[in-house]
Amino acid sequence: MLNLVLFGPPGAGKGTQSEKLIKKYNLVHLSTGDMLRAERKAGTPLGKEADEYIKQGNLVPDDVVIRMIEEKLDQNRNANGFIFDGFPRTTAQAAALDKLLEKKGTGITMMLALDVPENVLKERLILRGADSGRADDKDPAVIQNRIEVYNKETAPVADYYSKQGKLHLVQGVGEIGEIFASLCKKIDAAKV
Ligand code: AMP
Repeated sequence: MLNLVLFGPPGAGKGTQSEKLIKKYNLVHLSTGDMLRAERKAGTPLGKEADEYIKQGNLVPDDVVIRMIEEKLDQNRNANGFIFDGFPRTTAQAAALDKLLEKKGTGITMMLALDVPENVLKERLILRGADSGRADDKDPAVIQNRIEVYNKETAPVADYYSKQGKLHLVQGVGEIGEIFASLCKKIDAAKV
C-alpha cells in the first residue's frame, strides 16, 4: 500500500495537491477537515460538537478525529492506499494512526511536507475565503489562530515522522504543476 501524509500549514495547498495525487496513484483521499465540514453541514451530533472548535480555528479533540479516520479505513478495506490530508495534526493523532495501520498490516510510507512562508499562507487563505465560503478563511484573527495552533500543536508531527526517517520536504511555492512534479518525484523515489 502507498500511504502518504500530506503535511503543511493551512493554505499550503494540501487539498489541491491531494486531488491530483489521488488520480495519479489511485489513492483514497482522507481529509479530516472535509469530513468535519460534511458532518457540520448534515447537522450530526459530531458536527455540532466540532462546530465551535472550527469557528475559532482550534483543533477538534483527538478522539473525535481518530474515530472518524478509523471508520474511513474500515470502509475502504480494498484501497490501494490513502492520502491523509490535515491529519494527523498532533503527535497523539500520529501515534494513533500508526496503531490503526499496524492493525491492518500496513503503515505510513512517507510524509510529504509542503513548505510555504507565513505571508504567502495568509494571502492564499484570504483569497480562498472570498470564494470557498469557509468562514474560517475569512476572519484574519481566526486565520492567525490557525497558524499559531499549527506552529504549536501540529509542527511537532513533522519531527515524529522525521524520527522514523519518513519526512520529505517539498517547496510549496510556485506553479501547481511544478509542485505536483516535485511531490511525484519524491513518491516515485520512495516506491522503488
Ligand atoms: P482543514 O480543512 O484541514 O484546514 O480543517 C479545518 C478545521 O477542522 C481545523 O481548523 C480544525 O478546527 C478542524 N480539523 C481538521 N482536521 C483536524 C484534525 N486532524 N485534528 C483536529 N482538528 C481538525
